[in-house]
Amino acid sequence: TKWVYRFGDGAAEGGVADVALLGGKGANLAEMASLGLPVPPGMTITTEACLFFFSKGKALPHDLQGQVLLALSDMERITGRTFGQGARPLLVSVRSGARASMPGMMDTVLNLGLNDQTVQALGHDSGDARFAWDSYRRFIQMYGDVVMGLDHEVFEEVLEDEKARLGHDYDTELSAVEWQHVVSLYKQVIEEELGEAFPQDCHLQLWNTIKAVFSSWTNTRAVTYRTLHKIPHDWGTAVNVQAMVFGNLGSTSATGVAFTRNPSTGENSLYGEFLVNAQGEDVVAGIRTPQSLTEEGRLASGSEKPSMEKLMPEAFAEFRDICHRLEAHYGDMQDVEFTVERGKLWMLQTRSGKRTTRAAMKIAVDLVDEGVITREQAICRIDPPSLDQLLHPTIDPRVERVVLGSGLPASPGAASGEIVFTAEDAVDAEAEGRKVVLVRIETSPEDIHGMHAAEAILTTRGGMTSHAAVVARGMGIPCVVGAGGLRVDLRNELLIGPGFTLKKGEMITVDGSSGQLLKGDVPMIQPELSGDFGRLMAWADEIRRMTVRTNADTPQDARAARSYGAEGIGLCRTEHMFFEGGRIHVMREMILAEDEAGRRAALDKLLPMQRSDFTELFTIMSGLPVTIRLLDPPLHEFLPKSAEEIIEVAAAMDMEPALLSRRVEALHEFNPMLGHRGCRLAISYPEIAEVQARAIFEAAAAAARETGAPVELEIMVPLVGLRSELDYVKACIDQVAADVSKETGLLQIGYLVGTMIELPRAALRAHVIAETAEFFSFGTNDLTQTTFGISRDDAASFIPTYQRKGIIEQDPFISLDFDGVGELIGLAAERGRKTRPDLKLGICGEHGGDPASIRFCEQMRLDYVSCSPFRVPIARLAAAQAAI
Ligand code: PEP
Ligand code: MG
Repeated sequence: TKWVYRFGDGAAEGGVADVALLGGKGANLAEMASLGLPVPPGMTITTEACLFFFSKGKALPHDLQGQVLLALSDMERITGRTFGQGARPLLVSVRSGARASMPGMMDTVLNLGLNDQTVQALGHDSGDARFAWDSYRRFIQMYGDVVMGLDHEVFEEVLEDEKARLGHDYDTELSAVEWQHVVSLYKQVIEEELGEAFPQDCHLQLWNTIKAVFSSWTNTRAVTYRTLHKIPHDWGTAVNVQAMVFGNLGSTSATGVAFTRNPSTGENSLYGEFLVNAQGEDVVAGIRTPQSLTEEGRLASGSEKPSMEKLMPEAFAEFRDICHRLEAHYGDMQDVEFTVERGKLWMLQTRSGKRTTRAAMKIAVDLVDEGVITREQAICRIDPPSLDQLLHPTIDPRVERVVLGSGLPASPGAASGEIVFTAEDAVDAEAEGRKVVLVRIETSPEDIHGMHAAEAILTTRGGMTSHAAVVARGMGIPCVVGAGGLRVDLRNELLIGPGFTLKKGEMITVDGSSGQLLKGDVPMIQPELSGDFGRLMAWADEIRRMTVRTNADTPQDARAARSYGAEGIGLCRTEHMFFEGGRIHVMREMILAEDEAGRRAALDKLLPMQRSDFTELFTIMSGLPVTIRLLDPPLHEFLPKSAEEIIEVAAAMDMEPALLSRRVEALHEFNPMLGHRGCRLAISYPEIAEVQARAIFEAAAAAARETGAPVELEIMVPLVGLRSELDYVKACIDQVAADVSKETGLLQIGYLVGTMIELPRAALRAHVIAETAEFFSFGTNDLTQTTFGISRDDAASFIPTYQRKGIIEQDPFISLDFDGVGELIGLAAERGRKTRPDLKLGICGEHGGDPASIRFCEQMRLDYVSCSPFRVPIARLAAAQAAI
């Protein structure tokens, strides 16, 4: 097996395509060497060798040694040095390098190849004995720590004692002889602590270090990091063994790091720092203040210390040139490390640089303008969910966060306000012009007006599809749900957490992007949809195949969604319209009515309200498709719950509390999610569907008259499992349509009747249901709930445990379960289309705004996705990526 890949002197085995085998660092070193850039020669031992190592109880492959020795002799030839002996000793660095960057998580050893003989030779050869002994002690310290397992602190203590004894404050004050003494103290402490000597055999040093670096793949830090960043544990790390170059050989030597463009703004100017007469880890350690690379950077930082541009003009010019070449070659902003050894520039690393979303956007668009990448490539460079950062106010990253607690990041953005505990208080405060955060155990439809009035919402219970989460996302209000570490004491109006109690009226900040709750009023950065954003999104729109619609229930949502580029409404949940203002009273009247006549009387009052809502929605969406869904939730959701509320409502309705109470009881369900909801309501009380249909058609007629461009009307029946259910409700809708056309004198109102596919039976019987349905919209919230048999409102209490224990990877209510729920979708799409080839297919569950789920929808060739207004740009971008 080939375990070792060589690079250096303008050539390399392997390159950037071999990142899985060579790790990120190794692959890029090889690539740079092939480009003819000045890279110190070296070798990469593959990730396969690492996997072998672990599979064989930490033994190296028997044929590895020969390959390493061959590569080492190459390095000797190129550098004119010899490893472990001779007048010009070769020193090497041994570093880890995984496929994905895991900064600082694994181990590194520098200056390997020093012993009591080679240190002398190094001193002669470099003409700097102090440098040689300093390098030796650095090596012993790292080797002692990484390979021999002696705590780094032990060496620090020895050095501190010695400096105190000599009266030195800084390492730089130690002479060659003094460092030599530190070396002997280090060796002594190793013998004392471990009972074995520091090895003088440089080959032994090398083998032991290679093993130690492989082993560091499974250290606790690395394992935790991989778990957090979803990096597979079975990738393994490569090991890079490379000839050392020294930035600490006096004032013509230096070491530094740079980004080829500004990583926070994206501006096209070299951005970085360097240290004169220093080794790489000195920059990271932050002991000395680094200097700017460029004059521009120096002026911006107001530093007195000269820039590299001024101090080392030749090396800088070469470096700048290399940065341009790297960017052109990789087609992306790079994060590089370099060293200057006595005036000669060496490149030690390059990789694509981390950046803010704002910078990512600017860099991608600029690179297209510069002709470096295509529009498609630019689109794929942006992580769709990161667009959130651009669309909402975010917490100023410069301020310090005082975190009081955290929950699930249910709706992005951040906002501050006074704590209130009831919807009424939120409404009152808003009327007085005060900003509030509505804090609830969980929210219910009755809180809607308070949620509207609040700047942000916090609940201590519930998951990502809980009422608070869904509604807040729809409204674009920051929201954190399920903050289980906090307790709401409603009676005393207190929010209690570990070590604090907050009263009503105190300021807090909710960060719906991170899920954090912060103390006080925190400074924000306002969103700015700059030109780059607009241009990139326009390219995405050209490329994507699927349409992007929005889930919107109010004119406010609909307007916001259109401004974010929505191409219609995929779901209008009409029940949300019945909670607004005084309507809930009329709604209750209807529910409490004794008979159909009573119900119709109440419905007659609701009709004009619904009609005006729809007219407004249709006007805003003029010319675009709008899907209106008939009433879905069980009726008891509209009724008061607690004894106090019952008394209050009964009084308002001039009704016996006992009677109201009996009615509430009669409507009680053990399992409302699987109860009398959806089309079941329309079948029990067809007059409800009738009145809704009438409101819809009359509004459509009115809007068409007003705008001249009729909406593409789609009426959607929820929770259908049987074709006969849909037939029943459709007959009712068709009848109303006929009546309204006759009454309004319009020859014909165009509309489609379709259904949600949100029950497994509906998916299985799609070919039959499609005989009636003219479109399907996958309601993946309920479809996930019913396929898994997991209540969407209770999932949060155990899904995180499932994730932690590796039972499932993703919360299926957030990212579609392709294997199970996805199979039902695929099957329903196929069966439905077989019956009706032009069947319109979409998705309107929460997954419609999730990039991975959107990719799946593209594979299923759905016609559109529909998501909350603030996710529309994310969906536009994700749909474009899915189509590329
Ligand atoms: C769904 O079930 O996916 C859906 C969109 O409907 P709701 O969330 O209103 O139940
Ligand atoms: Mg549903």
